[in-house]
Formats: sequence, structure tokens, C-alpha cells
Amino acid sequence: MRDECSVVNPATEAVIATIPMASIDETDAAVARAKDAGPAWRAVAPTDRARLMRRFAGHVEDHAEELAQLETANVGKPIADSRDEVGMVAEVLHFYAGAVDKHRGATVPVAGGVDLTFHEPLGVVGAIVPWNFPIAITSWKVGPALATGNTIVVKPAELTPLSALRLAELALEAGVPEGVFQVVVGTGPTVGARLTEHPDVAKVAFTGSTAVGREVMRRAAGTIKRVTLELGGKSANIVFADADLERAAAAAPGSVFGNAGQDCCARSRILVERSVFDRFVALFVEAVDAWRVGDPTHPDTQMGPLASARHRQVVAGFLASGMGDPGGGTVETLVTGSVPDGPGFWFPPTVVAPAEPDWRLAREEIFGPVVAVIPFEDEADAVRLANDTPYGLAGSIWTGDGAKALRMARAVDAGNLSVNSNGSVRVQTSFGGMKQSGFGRELGLEALDAYSDVKNVFLATS
Ligand code: NAD
Repeated sequence: MRDECSVVNPATEAVIATIPMASIDETDAAVARAKDAGPAWRAVAPTDRARLMRRFAGHVEDHAEELAQLETANVGKPIADSRDEVGMVAEVLHFYAGAVDKHRGATVPVAGGVDLTFHEPLGVVGAIVPWNFPIAITSWKVGPALATGNTIVVKPAELTPLSALRLAELALEAGVPEGVFQVVVGTGPTVGARLTEHPDVAKVAFTGSTAVGREVMRRAAGTIKRVTLELGGKSANIVFADADLERAAAAAPGSVFGNAGQDCCARSRILVERSVFDRFVALFVEAVDAWRVGDPTHPDTQMGPLASARHRQVVAGFLASGMGDPGGGTVETLVTGSVPDGPGFWFPPTVVAPAEPDWRLAREEIFGPVVAVIPFEDEADAVRLANDTPYGLAGSIWTGDGAKALRMARAVDAGNLSVNSNGSVRVQTSFGGMKQSGFGRELGLEALDAYSDVKNVFLATS
């Protein structure tokens, strides 16, 4: 019998779809279709390719509410967030439509002739996507891949395939040719691993955990596949005594409890200068009390449930007796918000303050609504603590001193930092990690380079 996966609404626990899981043969067939579609797609004139991508973007806008409802039902994220994320998908497609004819090569001064560079498409791209931002992250890969003339096979996470499947249908309806953008639903070890090893896949664009990223890199080595890896994080939100504490505290819940903490950029460590620690924690706890957890279909909801029962168990494990501090004691200083009764994989926003930097919950990516608040002594101590992690994805610096903000921004090893703000992702700017948060950049004009090879051509003129 054919393998199927039940797609569950995490807020109601109802099965909302049953999707057949692709086999290795079906994955190979999708790659073959993508390969066949490649020559015609790369031959589409740049302005026509841009026009098609704009039409696709417009079609997403026309179906925005349908896509947002689908994302909320499948991921359990608040509808306001889903609407923003679908808006971002359209913006990504518009941005890369505009970039199609602006990804220019160079003429290089050399002796004896003329030297030209071309940005050539890679061929077939395999995209592997996690369950926390399914449609947005799919678009981050589809937009630049199509703009640069590649075809793409997307493997969504088994838990959350619905929006990517619908997105691919919308692309077809908008006129993107068959085979150019396909979605194959299946497990990581089958479809994901096959895409990573397939000799006709030129690049794997992976977003997911550091553990699986490591495996992807290993498997990709067999065919010297290009890989970009967008992996986990343990980002720090650094609050100095000279910051606007009210503003920093009011913004902090969103920076770690957004998407129920299932965000690679979640500021799951808040580092606070010791002289204002108690005051900041009091303001922060007040803001957490006001954080609205509940029915994700309600427009005012700020946090929904976790994505699955299994994931809730993992998150709870960080707070269980003996799992908090290395001494084996219980995590004691907790402030927990409330969650709805009844079905759904709910987990309350949880503040651990003060936490010790060597506790497991202060070191590992929890991917849930749990934050460790840790005091620091001075600027050097803040840098030391912020960088004391194998990850390097994002972070925030709150201070009223501009020079200090810049010193900190240069000293913290993370790919995306914000000053007096917690925003990490913008369509126009590059996004990606340092250290074990991965390498390669998505979004911005930088992503165009990640989906193309530079070819150098020398023409002798004498
Ligand atoms: P995951 O690593 O378990 O899975 C990610 C994807 O990889 C899924 O589609 C999964 O099916 C697939 N996969 C699993 N095993 C595979 C294998 N052996 N070969 C190929 N593919 C395989 O991650 P997740 O639990 O879905 O997502 C959460 C993780 O993603 C967190 O660590 C989070 O920080 C990270 N993430 C990172 C970013 C970023 O941009 N840096 C963004 C979102 C999520």
C-alpha cells in the first residue's frame, strides 16, 4: 500500500488532508521533468521571464486570503502572521521578477583581448523546506531560482505541505511552464535524501535543523553539489542599561514568542545589563502577560499552538525536572502565560529569569516559546555571552549609544543583526547564518549569486 501522511491542524488536532508520500522513483521522475524543462526555461527572454514571474506574483495576491487560511490551518500560526507571510511571497516574486534582467556580468580589463563574465543557471535545484514558515521559505528559494533560469523541485516538510502544493498550482495557472516549479511531498530520508544525492540536481537549498544540514552536506559531497544551508539558531537579544527599556521590553515577546518560538531567528536568550536586570524583567513579564495566545484564526491572536504533539514534548523536555541545569535540578524561576483548554498542541510563553548561561535551555535551540534571561556585566561580557554558542544566525542590540551599537554589531558573530529592533528578514536584504547556522545567503540580490555560476569567457582580439 502507498504511504500517506495525515496533515493535522495543530490548533484543533483535526486531520485536514491526507497526502500520498512520494517514493524515490517519483522523486526521480520529478527531477527528470525539471531537467527536461530546463533548456526552454533558460531560453525564455529575460523580460518575458520577468513578466511570467510578475503574473505569478499577481496570482498569489489574488489568492492571498486562501493561501493565508491554508497556512494557518496547517501550521497553527496566527492568521495575521499568515497574511503577512503570503504578502511576503508576492513581494519576493515581484522582487526577483525585477531582478531577472539586472543580474549583470562584467567586462574585465585583461591583456590581449576582452574578458566577459556570465551568470549561468545551475540547472535543477532541489529545495528542502521546514515546517515553521512553509510558504515564505518556499518562495525565498523559488524566486531567485526561477529568476536566474533554473528549474526547481521543492520538498516541503511532511507536517506542512499544503501551501507549497497550492503555490505550485498557482504558478502553473499563471503560465509558468510545466516542470519548472514542482512540489514533491515525502519524508526527509526518502525524497530529501534523494534530492541531495541525485546526480541531476545541481544544488540543494536546505532550510532546517543543523543536524539534518550536516547530513545534507555529507550526502551532497558525492556529486559536489552546491549547497546553501539555513540552519538553527540561539540568537541573543542584548539589552544595555542605556536602552529605552520600555521599548525593548515591549518588543521582546514578539522576538521570541512569535510563531510560538518556532523561528530560527527567535531571540531565545535575552542578555540584560545587570544594573537594569530586575527592572527589565518586570517590564518584560508585564509584556508577556499581555501577549495574546489563542485561536489562530482570530485576527488579534499573537501566538498559536506548536506544530505537533511530538514537538510539544521536545519543548517541554527543556523544562522537565533534571533537564534544566547541568546539576540535574529543576528549572525553578518560571513565569508562564496561559493557553486555551481543549485540543491543540498548546505551550505557554515561558520566561526563565535569571537563567545560567550553561543551562541546556540557554544553550540549545528549543524552537518553542521558552526564553532564558541572563544578566551581563559590561560590553565585553555581552559579546562573550552572545558569541558563546555554535550558532550565529540573528540577534538584537538595544542601546541609546550609536557607537556602541555599531561596535556590538561588528563583534557579534551572526548573519543578521538589528539595532533597537528585532526584525531579521527583509526581501531586499540578504539573510543567512554564520558558524553552525549555515552558509550561503537567501533573499536580496545576493541570492541571485547563490543560484548561478559565474562563467568567464576570454575573446582574443589580436
Ligand atoms: P528538519 O531539519 O527536521 O527538517 C527540515 C527539512 O529537511 C524537512 O523537509 C525534512 O523532511 C527534511 N529532511 C529530514 N531529514 C532529511 C535528510 N536526511 N535528507 C534531506 N532532507 C531531510 O527541521 P524542521 O524541524 O522541519 O525545522 C526546524 C529547524 O529549521 C530548526 O532548527 C530551525 O532553526 C531551522 N530553520 C532555519 C531557518 C533559517 O533560515 N536559518 C529558517 C527556518 C527554520
